[in-house]
Amino acid sequence: MIGKDKYSTNLVTTNWLSNKIMAWNDEENTRQMPWKGEKEPYFIWLSEIILQQTRVEQGLLYYHRFIYYFPNVRKLAAADEKKLMKLWEGLGYYSRCRNLHKAAKIIVADYHGVFPKSYENILKLPGVGPYTAAAISSFAYNEPYAVVDGNVVRVLSRFFGSYKSINNTDGKRWFGEVAQRLLPKKKAGVYNQAIMDLGAVICKPRKPQCEICPLHNKCVAFLLGKQQEFPVKNKRIRKKQRWFSFLILIRDGKVLIQKRVDNDIWKGLYQFPVYETSSFVPTSQLNRRISKDGLQIKLGKVAFSASQELTHQTIHGRFYVLLVTQSFKGIEGEWLTPRAAAKRAFPKMPAIFLNNLGCVNGKFDGSFSKK
Ligand code: SF4
Repeated sequence: MIGKDKYSTNLVTTNWLSNKIMAWNDEENTRQMPWKGEKEPYFIWLSEIILQQTRVEQGLLYYHRFIYYFPNVRKLAAADEKKLMKLWEGLGYYSRCRNLHKAAKIIVADYHGVFPKSYENILKLPGVGPYTAAAISSFAYNEPYAVVDGNVVRVLSRFFGSYKSINNTDGKRWFGEVAQRLLPKKKAGVYNQAIMDLGAVICKPRKPQCEICPLHNKCVAFLLGKQQEFPVKNKRIRKKQRWFSFLILIRDGKVLIQKRVDNDIWKGLYQFPVYETSSFVPTSQLNRRISKDGLQIKLGKVAFSASQELTHQTIHGRFYVLLVTQSFKGIEGEWLTPRAAAKRAFPKMPAIFLNNLGCVNGKFDGSFSKK
């Protein structure tokens, strides 16, 4: 039967499975997180948005930072966008931060600052998908909506021995329906957290601890010794490769920065002027392009290079440092001291460059060329 998804998800199985998970949660689950058991939807929402695409250990600092600066939704709605982006710096996927801000403004304008209660209204907020809406509505209000995240999918695919792919529409629908069937409606919040915890601490991706798992008597993957075959993912699409050549233009101790405004990665963040290509090009070729653009500069050695992996693309970055004179023109932007520039929110790679030059925390001495 394995491979055909014929494993029963009938009521006996679902009750057995949910009861086992609930009993494990009551007696053995010791997983701690600051937002666990939280009933305030605003805090739950913050934690869920921060944790999207982010490990708990990394998200913790940002969670505490956000609740410190913005203890309620009104404070978040009134926040200065530059400050907000700076506080988010390093966490990546900046659209999450922009959507948090937009959603906070909507909650203040349309809901008088009170977090919406229904799943449907929560789902309408920018940046909130079915998983986040289910988490907020079940944790805060015990609404009967099952969460389906990576941990839940791993437990279900292994337990039922399902070869449904977790990253196509059919598979997502299957996991959503099964998770919803398993949900004990009156204990939705506690159960949702419990199955995610089980996936995180027992049914781990690499080394599941099946001997102490409450589900092992009926777990298909365990009984067949095929834990590593689940969950199934369709082959990844090849990532788009992008080459960014950043120009660090220095004039009288100030550096030129620009805000990214296009609908592209890093929208709303700052960067140094950049030339983008779809493949690696040598510096000489870049210089020809620069000359064609009429700019009176010539690139020399690469000062720093790095790569950054995003979900669907890889960014290869190179940084060129150039000293220019007062008469330099041709590129728009703001000339700031490195210390002032470092107060703006930059994507990870340019931020690392600034850091390496020692211009964060006021340590920069005004001369890039010395470093
Ligand atoms: S028995 Fe093993 S594979 Fe099955 S759910 Fe438990 S930890 Fe996961």
